[in-house]
Amino acid sequence: MKKFLIGLFVFIVASSACFADSVYLLEKDAPNQQKVMKIGFRILNANQIENRMTFFYSTQNEVNAAAYARSKTIVVYKGLLPFIDDENEIAAVICHEIAHGLDYFAGYWRRVAMGFNPKKYERKADLKGVDLMVNAGYNPVAMIVVLNKICEEPSYFENGGSHPAGSERLSAVYEYIYSKYPAYLADNDYKNNLYYQNFLLTSKAAREKIRQKYNPVVPVSNKKSDSDKSEQDK
Ligand SMILES: [Zn+2]
Repeated sequence: MKKFLIGLFVFIVASSACFADSVYLLEKDAPNQQKVMKIGFRILNANQIENRMTFFYSTQNEVNAAAYARSKTIVVYKGLLPFIDDENEIAAVICHEIAHGLDYFAGYWRRVAMGFNPKKYERKADLKGVDLMVNAGYNPVAMIVVLNKICEEPSYFENGGSHPAGSERLSAVYEYIYSKYPAYLADNDYKNNLYYQNFLLTSKAAREKIRQKYNPVVPVSNKKSDSDKSEQDK
């Protein structure tokens, strides 16, 4: 009878909830649920986000995280965890998904626009994610570190899909941090990180373009007028 009742209970649990997989976690998975949830709510509160969102850890093995438009739920999948080395990196993933969540709250037409131009909203979520990280006390360089590990470099045909090429996302995030939060690059906790070093190696040309855009080399003829100016300033 006891066995039958246990069997019945398992049957009811398995068949009743659509996110049974997320909610009924085994004991060993519970700390991951707690971690994802705590980081998620910390980011919402620190950014004074007044929209409700919920956070779930799923034991499905996809290398992914997702924001669901109808339920405003952020899900981090177990398959992503081997790619995560510290709390800043998991915060980067969650911040990207919260940024999508904010767009979902912006209403029906925003969701239609997201469907028509998914790449634009992927880029936007990366950059908005950087802001959310900084406001919550996380190091935004972790966005570069984690994207360098998980974002593939699609071929020409694959690149017609929903996500921009990995290198494009990486240099956009780098440029955003460079222009808005340069202190994180000057005093960089990740400078010896394997995956950040690889980003530096593979992004030399892109970073040089960014550097020139924000700090154009002053032509020699202009240097004189600079010193003239400082003379006047005295
Ligand atoms: Zn996304």
